[in-house]
Formats: sequence, C-alpha cells, structure tokens
Amino acid sequence: MSNSRIVKYTCPYCKRGFDVEIWDTVTASSDPDLRDRCVSGDVFRLSCPHCKEEFMVQYPLVYIDEDHKFVLWLSEKEAPVSLKQTTKPLTERGYVLRRCATLKEFCEKIQILEDGVSDVMAELAKYDSFIEFTDNGKGTPEEITAVEYQRTENGIMKITVRCGDKGMSFLIPLTMLEEEIAQNPELYEVSNDIFPLINSEWIMSLYQEADGTA
Ligand SMILES: [Zn+2]
Repeated sequence: MSNSRIVKYTCPYCKRGFDVEIWDTVTASSDPDLRDRCVSGDVFRLSCPHCKEEFMVQYPLVYIDEDHKFVLWLSEKEAPVSLKQTTKPLTERGYVLRRCATLKEFCEKIQILEDGVSDVMAELAKYDSFIEFTDNGKGTPEEITAVEYQRTENGIMKITVRCGDKGMSFLIPLTMLEEEIAQNPELYEVSNDIFPLINSEWIMSLYQEADGTA
C-alpha cells in the first residue's frame, strides 16, 4: 500500500505557504501510475498555487517493487533503524535493497532493477564507458555532463556519455561485465545490510582504495 500525507510547504519564490501531498511509501506493483510519476519525477514536482512557479522537491521516500524484488530508500541520509530492521527478511526473500541520494540516481535505479540487471554491473559499465570516452580523446572529464544507463536488451547494456548536447552511446555485452567482475569478485561484493549507496562515487571509491593499497 502506498502512503501519502499532506504537509505545509513554503514556496521558495513567493514565500507563501500551501499544502502539498508527499509520499512516504510507494508500492510500484499496486500503483503503476505512481511508479510512472516516480520515474518521470512528477511526484517531486510541486507547483505553487499563488505565484504558479514550479520546482522539484526531494523528500525521503520508500519505494517498493514486489514484482522485481527491490526496495529503494530515497534520501541524502542513511536508512532509519526501522527500515534497516527489514533487511534480513527481505534479503532472505531475494530482494535488492539500496539507498539513492538524488532523484537522478533514484529514477535510474528503478530502470536498472526493472530491467533485471545488477546495478553493480551497470555502474561498472558506466565507469568503463567514461574511461573509454576520455581515453579516446572524445572529451575531458570536465566536459562530461552525464553518464547514463539507457537499457539492457538481448544481453547488451547501453550507456550514453554526454558532453552538453552531444552524446555517445556504448553497447556493452553483459558477458564482458560478468568477466570483469569475476576477475576480482571481492571488490564488487555488496551487502544489503545498510541499504548501500551504489552509484558512480561508490565505484570510483573502489578503484581509489585499490590504488591506495597497491
Ligand atoms: Zn509561490
């Protein structure tokens, strides 16, 4: 069951107050419309009834997908104790548990896990694409504005590296990513325990730590 509540919100533009509906829990399988509004970001788009300005507001949310077996905690902060207490029974039932720090990470994570692929693999594919893009002189790390997961079809993962309005796509076979992970399985091991943050900073931290001890 999805749960929402009405809270008072102060418009950042005109500073006047208004009521908004925010969602504490979204259950994707029973509320497909709400799932779509999470992926599009509409759930977080507020409109001020006074000055008509629109803006995005990120608030903590628990997102549950029973069909694809994952639970996401959207927040800049670690999961609360009440949520961490659910990790063991959910892990036993085969769930993937993750924290997403930003809306962008949240939308992307839903797509990755709905596609039934590992998000560790997706982060590795994004990292590899980033390295290939810069190594081939297509752009400098500073020029890159985004590295995005697109989709996985027939065992091929598609990643796009963007430099402003230009973009370049990379098609990476899952078997290649599996081999890369198999070379150093401990490095990529992830535990559900604390609703871990699996994002680009996470994968970069793995390599920095590996360099540091070499
Ligand atoms: Zn306003």
